[in-house]
Amino acid sequence: MMVCKVGGANGNDIDSVLIDLAPRKDWVLVHGGSKEVDDLSEALGRPPKFLTSPSGVVSRYTDKETMDVFTMALAGKLNTQIVARLRGLGSNALGLSGEDGGLLTGRRKEAIRAVDNGRVLLVKDDHSGTVDTVNADLLEMLLSNGYTPVISPPAITVRGELINTDADRIAAMVAVALHAETLFLFTNVPGLLREPSDPTTLIPEVPIAEIDRYMNFAYGRMKKKLIAAKEAVEGGVARVVIASSQVEDPVERALSGLGTVVH
Ligand code: ADP
Repeated sequence: MMVCKVGGANGNDIDSVLIDLAPRKDWVLVHGGSKEVDDLSEALGRPPKFLTSPSGVVSRYTDKETMDVFTMALAGKLNTQIVARLRGLGSNALGLSGEDGGLLTGRRKEAIRAVDNGRVLLVKDDHSGTVDTVNADLLEMLLSNGYTPVISPPAITVRGELINTDADRIAAMVAVALHAETLFLFTNVPGLLREPSDPTTLIPEVPIAEIDRYMNFAYGRMKKKLIAAKEAVEGGVARVVIASSQVEDPVERALSGLGTVVH
């Protein structure tokens, strides 16, 4: 079993990943969609806002209205389009977001610490959170009946509130819950780079015992990929590959270890 996550930031080639995945067996897809959310936010006259934590992790500021936009863009448009494309490519894809069957259940953060002009603020109206449990029974039921789940944020709390949760970390939790051998994080860069603006500085391998040291190379959202990779490997996934979606045969290349392999 392999779990693949494809990013939704600008520059990702989602279609390339879908074409390479469709004919394969035993996989689950998780997707993000930050560009879709940004574009829809702009179109609705609500430019996106981001929060930076004191440790430098960047996340979307998701107030109630942004949560609506997030759901429309991800669970509405993008998940539907990806499922349609995969079905056209011959895969028996079935779309789910975190609230369906309680697939991704977690907690909303009471307050988020964010840095603004050098000061640390407490943001209390944010609908972000973390996933605690994955309904693996539901995924296994679908897989054993020949369906391929395509999973999108948001997640949900036990009280029925939708929460914005990072798709890389969702993918890590799904990989752990399904006892997947490999987790692929396809993105718009070749992997973890020593120098983020220089694609020739790829770090090919990160032994899990040294991941905290490598965290220093990652800025912004790349940090979340390393956190996700760490959670996956610590949860029993043998290897995580952070790899480019911007190539032909991205899955084949990542399977052969091209990218940053965390193990
Ligand atoms: P996706 O939507 O594909 O998940 P993200 O925008 O969340 O993509 O994360 C990938 C981005 O992380 C890259 O486009 C790059 O701007 C940024 N980044 C920060 N530090 C690094 C690094 N050391 N190596 C590669 N990318 C980095």
